[in-house]
Amino acid sequence: MLGYWKYLEKSDPEIYSMIQKEEHRQQSMLGMIASENHASPAVLVAAGSCLTNKYAEGLPGKRYYGGCEHVDEVEELAIERCKELFGCEHANVQPHSGTQANMAVYFSQLEPGDNVLAMNLSHGGHLSHGFNINFSGKLYNFFSYGVKRDSETIDYDQMSELAKEHKPKLIVCGASAYPRTINFEKIVQIAHENGARVLADIAHIAGLVCTGLHPDPIPSCEFVTSTTHKTLRGPRAGTIMCKKEYTKTINSAVFPGMQGGPLCHVIAAKAVAFAEAIRPDFKEYAKQIINNCQALAEALLSKGFRLCTGGTDNHLVLVDLRSYNEKLTGAQVETWLHDAGIVVNKNLIPYDTRKATETSGVRIGTPALTTRGMKESHMEQIAEWIDLVLASEGDEKVVSNIRNDTIALCRQYPIPG
Ligand SMILES: *Cc1c(COP(=O)(O)O)cnc(C)c1O
Repeated sequence: MLGYWKYLEKSDPEIYSMIQKEEHRQQSMLGMIASENHASPAVLVAAGSCLTNKYAEGLPGKRYYGGCEHVDEVEELAIERCKELFGCEHANVQPHSGTQANMAVYFSQLEPGDNVLAMNLSHGGHLSHGFNINFSGKLYNFFSYGVKRDSETIDYDQMSELAKEHKPKLIVCGASAYPRTINFEKIVQIAHENGARVLADIAHIAGLVCTGLHPDPIPSCEFVTSTTHKTLRGPRAGTIMCKKEYTKTINSAVFPGMQGGPLCHVIAAKAVAFAEAIRPDFKEYAKQIINNCQALAEALLSKGFRLCTGGTDNHLVLVDLRSYNEKLTGAQVETWLHDAGIVVNKNLIPYDTRKATETSGVRIGTPALTTRGMKESHMEQIAEWIDLVLASEGDEKVVSNIRNDTIALCRQYPIPG
């Protein structure tokens, strides 16, 4: 594969150099976007392989093209590993992304105009859970539950009331910016009392779920979707897990319902990532993500920051900047921290009064730095740097000094591979 790089360098120096620059950016900055990670070299090689050349519409053994004997083996292995990893009855590993995994479940269960209940985007939900300009919000009639004003945890009573009132066909749970565990059994109970099924979207927390470090939706929920590139640390893609009885409807919703040919190279990379996550050391990794996040939370709290829900159970914290300094916006803080070498994203906090392009919060996650081998003491150090940058309101000197420190830390903990 190294030969491929030389080839690219010669044949397309522009793209080659952009990829080189991106690699350098990742190596030299502290990546704390909660939805990002560093996939292993094995995953990267599989995703960059000649499998991208193969058309394989259909499922293993039932393809619409010849020459599928090897990609059939790859996809069968990916399915088996996904089932083993999550303990699910059926898996479809073809969705190109998390959003498309959700789309396939919707297509399998809903007609346009049907009622669906999902978490409010501005309380931590996801675009594909009914945002008005996303396909989901355009096609279906979404109602949303949120978090309680005081505890900022999911308001299961509100969910129950909305389910009674609107009788949705599907209740969607799972979030992109929620620092606490989700009670899947309670959601299933609410759904079943009201004749609904449940889709648990574990895009963010899959790596914690498959290692037993977050409550498991597989036994109780009819459908579970995930991305494979967040805490699971695989290639950028999606996967669907479901009860056996939904095998046919899910498979046909993916193809021909929603996609054409599967990305065989990415399916191979998913298989590699599933195998990595089955290994015992992945559980150590997942535990360290949480330990690091709790160390980060404690350190930020001790510097006077307020965290939504008061802390974290998982891989991310949601910082409410208002009590630290009323004037700060997430957008401003994102830029300052970026200049200091710490990459986070602005994020709405529940009941935010600012716009999504400004926000009163930032979301900070530990999966990627944990992959680099960083531990609790490094999180304390990073919290200190965050405090210094924000206390100085982005003072150029302070920022550039900390930039030197973050470069030094990055050098000590290179991205594996
Ligand atoms: C990231 C995410 C997705 C979608 O992932 P894409 O691969 O970007 O489409 C879906 N649901 C939730 C909750 C997510 O956090």
